[in-house]
Parts: sequence; C-alpha cells; structure tokens
Amino acid sequence: MAVLIDGRKLGNSILGDVSERAVALAARTGIVPTLAAVLVGGDGASVSYVRQKERACERTGLRSVTLMLPASTSEAELLERIDALNRDSAIHGIIAQLPLPAGIDVEKVVSAVSPAKDVDGFHPVNLGLLMRNAGGLVPCTPAAVCHILDGLGVSLAGKRAVVVGRSLVVGRPLSCLLLRRDLTVTVCHTLTEDLAGEVSRADVVVAAAGRAALVRGEWVKPGAIVIDVGTNPTPAGLVGDVEFAAAAERAGYITPVPGGVGPLTVAMLLRNVVKAASTSF
Ligand code: NAP
Repeated sequence: MAVLIDGRKLGNSILGDVSERAVALAARTGIVPTLAAVLVGGDGASVSYVRQKERACERTGLRSVTLMLPASTSEAELLERIDALNRDSAIHGIIAQLPLPAGIDVEKVVSAVSPAKDVDGFHPVNLGLLMRNAGGLVPCTPAAVCHILDGLGVSLAGKRAVVVGRSLVVGRPLSCLLLRRDLTVTVCHTLTEDLAGEVSRADVVVAAAGRAALVRGEWVKPGAIVIDVGTNPTPAGLVGDVEFAAAAERAGYITPVPGGVGPLTVAMLLRNVVKAASTSF
C-alpha cells in the first residue's frame, strides 16, 4: 500500500516560510508583497481559485487585489489594465486567471504581464529562462510536483518519468524540471499510442490530463511514485486523473485529490510573489 503524500501539510509548511520571508522583507524595506489577480467574466471555478489565493495571501500576511472585469471586457481594455498593474510599484505579482473569454488572445495577455511580475511563470521570458536553467519565475504546479518529489528523499537520477499531458501550464515546463533532475522523461498526450505501456514502465508518473481516472491502477509499476495533478469535478466530488484506490495498492507513494498538488500550487504562487517583491527594489 502506497505512502499517502499530504499536500496540505507540505503546502502549510511552505506558507509558513513565505510568511516569515514576507515579515522579514517588510521589516527591512517596508514592502508588503502584493498579488493582483485579474478575472474576466469569471466562471465559478475561476472565482473559487482566486478566492483560494486571496485567503492564502491573508493567512501569510501578503496583500491581494482582485480586479473582477465583466465578460464584455475587450482585449484592448484588458491589456490596458495589465499595463497599469505593470507600472504600479505597489504590485509585485500579476495573474490573469485562465480561461479567458473567447475573443481574447491568451498569448497576447500572457505576454503583456511584465516578466518580473509574472508569478504564474507563463511569460515567454520565464519559460525561456526555465529551459536554460537560468532563474526566473517558475510555473507553480510544476514547481509543486518537484517539491513533492524532492522531499521524498528518493534517488531520481536515471529513473523513468512519464508525464501525461503536454500543456504549457503543467506538462511541458514540468518535463523540463524533471530533466533537470536527471530523470528520463516521456511526455504523453492524446495521440500517444500506448499510454498503458508508457505508464507501466515509469518509476514516476505525473498525471495532468484533466480526465477522471484516465491512469488505471493496474498500469502502475509496483513501487512507483504517482503524482496526480488532475482536478475533475464529478457528482461524487473532485477526483484526479488517476484511479486512486487501485493505484494506491501498487504505488510506493501517491498524492490524493483533493489535498495533494492543489494546496502546494497555491503555496508556490505565494512564494513567487515574495520572490518578485524581494527583487523589485
Ligand atoms: P490542458 O491544457 O487541457 O492539457 C491537457 C493535456 O492532457 C493535453 O496535453 C492533452 O493532450 C492531454 N490529454 C488529455 N486527454 C488525454 C488522454 N486521454 N490521453 C493522454 N493525454 C491526454 O490541461 P492543463 O491545464 O494542463 O490541466 C490538466 C489537469 O490538471 C486539469 O484537470 C487541471 O484542472 C489540472 N490542474 C491542476 C492544478 C492544481 O493545482 N492541482 C493546476 C493546473 C492544472 P493533447 O495535447 O494531445 O490535447
């Protein structure tokens, strides 16, 4: 039976560290790290994500500002708002909550955020720095996954990792961070011919497809580390991309959904806000 990884506990520990750093920064410089979230015609899930981030800021002594813009907001208006936040020295981190309404070019919006305030780590400059292992702000969910892996005390070098999903938010930046840890990385997607075979050879499986129970328990190699990024609402509640009970029978370590990667992702975001604030003067 797998060891259950407690994402809430790990997340709280990072938030404790974030809080200490924020206090120290304020004592030294008077700066209170501040996150601005921009939400356009937010659907229920986006509003709840932003509220979660606001609450985490409150708990850690960070300031947060939320701009709730109507769904009718034009791309030009949104870009203007982001530009104003870029120029506001009291704002250190900016997130444009995705998804954005149809008709707004996500690429333009992501690229409009100043790389120095891009606490989601989605700007092309930060993704370039990530590829080059040259600093910058690292995307939060991939950072959360790596924080879990690094904390296990298991030797990863040379082991096989399979990432299911190749999005710019999770799969692709994560594959880069896993390579940096000397894992042998395979990235799977909807056209992967033998997903079961790929997963069954992996020592580390990260599921980030957004498909409930896509990764079957019987595919998991005995002793593998299974990290479930997926969040899929079902009538029975939120579930991940991994068939949890069956996978837990075979895995060495496993993350639950909820209570796994999610709380750590929020903690990593706040860590990025403090990092951005610390380099802003
Ligand atoms: P996304 O942009 O929709 O990307 C999904 C990826 O999964 C795509 O690359 C897609 O392949 C692949 N995929 C979908 N169905 C598949 C299948 N049947 N077999 C193999 N690959 C498949 O999603 P995302 O933004 O990366 O998010 C993925 C999941 O993680 C979602 O459930 C999201 O809610 C969750 N998430 C959680 C957190 C957290 O903090 N816990 C943070 C971010 C995301 P193609 O490229 O071929 O289409």
